[in-house]
Amino acid sequence: MSEVLQSSEPSRLSNVLVAASMRADQWRQLNATARAWSFAAGGPNAKGLHANCQSQFNTVLLIEHCWAYPGERLLGEVREALDRGDAALFARLVHKISAAILSGDYRRDERVWDSGDDLDATALDALPPDITGINEKPYFEVLVVTPSDPAQWQRSKDEMRRMRRPDDAFHFAVVHAGSFEDAALAVMVNNDLQAVVLMDGFGFASRHDVADLKEFLSRHIRVDHSDLEPGSLALTLARTIDAFRPELDLYLLTDRAPESLAGSDAAAVLRRVFHYVEEPMEIHLSILDGVNDRYLTPYFDNLKKYAMRPIGTFHALPIARGKSIFGSNWIRDMGHFYGTNILFAESSATTGGLDSLLEPTGTIKRAQEAVARAFGAKRAYLGTNGTSTSNKIVVQAVCKPGDIVIVDRNCHKSHHYGFVLSGAQPYYVEAFPLTQYSMYGAVPLRTIKQALLDCAAGGKLDRVKVIDLTNCTFDGHMYNPRRVMEECLAIKPDLIFLWDEAWFGFARFNALHRRRTAMGAAAALTARYRSAAYREEYEAWKSGRGEVDPTDPALLDERWLPDPDKVRIRVYQTNSTHKSMSAFRQGSMMLVWDEDFHHVEGPFEEAFFAHTSTSPNLQLIASLDLARRQMELEGYALTTRMTDLALKIRRAINTHPLISKYFKVATPEDMIPAEYRESGLKDYGPPHASWAASAEALDSDEFALDPTRLTLICGAAGFDGTQFKGMLAERFDIQINKTSRNSVLVQTNINNTHSDAALLIKALADLSREIESRLSQEGTLGQQVFADRVKSLMTDVPDLPNFSRFHDAFRDDPSGASNEGHMRPAFFMAYEEANCEFVKLNSEDVDRRLREGPEMVSANFVIPYPPGFPIMVPGQVITADTIAFMRKLDVKEIHGYHAAQGIKLITPSKLASRRASSVQ
Ligand SMILES: *Cc1c(COP(=O)(O)O)cnc(C)c1O
Repeated sequence: MSEVLQSSEPSRLSNVLVAASMRADQWRQLNATARAWSFAAGGPNAKGLHANCQSQFNTVLLIEHCWAYPGERLLGEVREALDRGDAALFARLVHKISAAILSGDYRRDERVWDSGDDLDATALDALPPDITGINEKPYFEVLVVTPSDPAQWQRSKDEMRRMRRPDDAFHFAVVHAGSFEDAALAVMVNNDLQAVVLMDGFGFASRHDVADLKEFLSRHIRVDHSDLEPGSLALTLARTIDAFRPELDLYLLTDRAPESLAGSDAAAVLRRVFHYVEEPMEIHLSILDGVNDRYLTPYFDNLKKYAMRPIGTFHALPIARGKSIFGSNWIRDMGHFYGTNILFAESSATTGGLDSLLEPTGTIKRAQEAVARAFGAKRAYLGTNGTSTSNKIVVQAVCKPGDIVIVDRNCHKSHHYGFVLSGAQPYYVEAFPLTQYSMYGAVPLRTIKQALLDCAAGGKLDRVKVIDLTNCTFDGHMYNPRRVMEECLAIKPDLIFLWDEAWFGFARFNALHRRRTAMGAAAALTARYRSAAYREEYEAWKSGRGEVDPTDPALLDERWLPDPDKVRIRVYQTNSTHKSMSAFRQGSMMLVWDEDFHHVEGPFEEAFFAHTSTSPNLQLIASLDLARRQMELEGYALTTRMTDLALKIRRAINTHPLISKYFKVATPEDMIPAEYRESGLKDYGPPHASWAASAEALDSDEFALDPTRLTLICGAAGFDGTQFKGMLAERFDIQINKTSRNSVLVQTNINNTHSDAALLIKALADLSREIESRLSQEGTLGQQVFADRVKSLMTDVPDLPNFSRFHDAFRDDPSGASNEGHMRPAFFMAYEEANCEFVKLNSEDVDRRLREGPEMVSANFVIPYPPGFPIMVPGQVITADTIAFMRKLDVKEIHGYHAAQGIKLITPSKLASRRASSVQ
């Protein structure tokens, strides 16, 4: 099965995601051919196999210079064996190298770095004991970009190696590049890199003959060709690398005056500037120091120390130090199951460096600063009650009663509750529907602009405070936050944006996803509006059109530009770290890039106090600290690998001759209507589109589909989502979370492996075979039943109801076009039983009131799972659409609705009296 997942890409540079797996595949293939050659030695096939080895080895070498292992020396020996026709030696060396690459042994086993025959047991015994403890130490690679003669490189590697000391916390190996292009390529494909040393004076063009290199590079990095003078090339490369992998430490070695350079703006991306004659040891130590900065987890490190100290506890937390558990006659198994460390690490103290989440001054403060650095924010706050609470904190921090929030009605319930709490008035806007899968997409920019326009027409634009959107959605719709914010800021330059990136925290760590993140967009827009080029663009645009009028309907179809003198970048992001990274459940982050945060900081603190427990879970805080460390050191490797795997699963399912008869992974074309997919991209990668076109679509389309979230359509196999989910769990041990009427959502994650993928594909193949054999046995009647079932799942799908409107009793100007309403009073009216009544969903009563009135107005939130968005909110008028949808819903879990009671309404008389009192 796993061969389905093997890369079928030709050995060209096509896609940065597949580079690492392509390399492993190529070595595996070469290993097989080398073995065949060594077995055939002297025989009739030997010559042909030798030639095959030569051509495959040349292919491998094309990008092998990007990695420190195996390096020039070992590769030279392989080449020699090949040229001499020594099949046995060639096969042994290739086997050794490919095994080390596949297993990662080069990270910990010194013996795989030379050509010695370690199959020889005596040689193994003769090895000196490992005095440096290197096997235990994390390993990384350092790229040195240098104008020096490649003949010198091995010597310089040996020199760097000699500087290793037993008390270094990590060990590293060096890989060289001789040009800008080679360096850029290495940064993209080599996951092991943690630092780059730039030695002034190298040239631009690659010395390797790599087909498609230029096209490949230009697709992923923007090279400013006006700035490729040898004198500035190192800084240009530094900026290029920083944009592509911001986590890497960059060092410059120059013979120009380093003092003056170090202070320049251009050098801001550099960690340090050295003079050429600097002690190499100084560089060695700086490199280790840089990695250590990311490795440090201030809170976790201290918690470990704390746990080891003998402490008598007289605070309120009996399980701390485990005494109430290990001394117990009845719950000792709790201690055995969880282990001692978790109990030793429990405390309710905020002393001993444990710091306080509510008023951080020490290790938590430093952990938050590290999160801000890692995730590209100005500020970061750790949350220990899920993004459900993080959203309420941010909403309450930026909104006060009366503020208007333009919000996706389909957003997570925490936002809606946030509006009730803060008294903000939601202006619900609709995502485009994907009726065929019973799900929603995301909110079109035109809809958001229309809402702003409506508010402007009603004279309420000044009250619109926040735009609140989910990026990406559960089903993988990614906004184009740069474009959304730019066009909205053109209408109102001080808007605040809250991007709920609950699923999308990992997205910071590769360039493909990062361009569609809130923080990525905040950085890009800040740089753009500060540039002279933008000012010129803006002046030219404005001179053609005169004063900007926010009620001008032309803005719906035109792209307006914000005034650089007025625009403020005010962006908030929340993410469920536990959903996409290695944090414990409920671990969440709030990221801030707000140029006016000084106005928000006080309210933010209040909101944080309002919602945060005074006993936050220490293990959660520590796990957030660790999740950050992991992402800053291996987020690039993990997220590119997961994306590569997701793309392979997509292709394997959709091209499998049997599976694809009954199952399909929805493509960008299926999930995004053409009008929001301006590039016309149908699916990622060949044969549907080149990788260049795919990258272009990710950059520019209004919406793009996150390839790591796979909507697997199971309706054509006769399964509804819930049924299929249960079947995957029971029969195949595959767990998934979200379902729709005819699909399930398969999310790939940083923990997924090729075996997981193979398990899924095997399950689908088994099920397809079963359906096939059942249909062939059942005859026409059975086939008709199957066809009817498929039709009912795939075509007879209920229309998704739009948000109707708030009842006039909850609106300030019922005749206006903007639909914001007072949800909070409606919510609290339901607390008085006398204000409410119930109607049964299937009763004649409901139909009569729809026909004749009085209007039915919901008293509370009604949220079915799935799809998980409120189909009624407090104060909303219930229309025929909503009733029809409710009646068709075949899910059991509907929050806020009990079938035995019926739909909870606010009584018409209460509505009338509220209206009367608000009119006077
Ligand atoms: C899961 C989710 C939340 C809530 O996050 P928790 O960490 O589970 O509390 C908020 N918004 C969206 C879009 C989500 O998917």
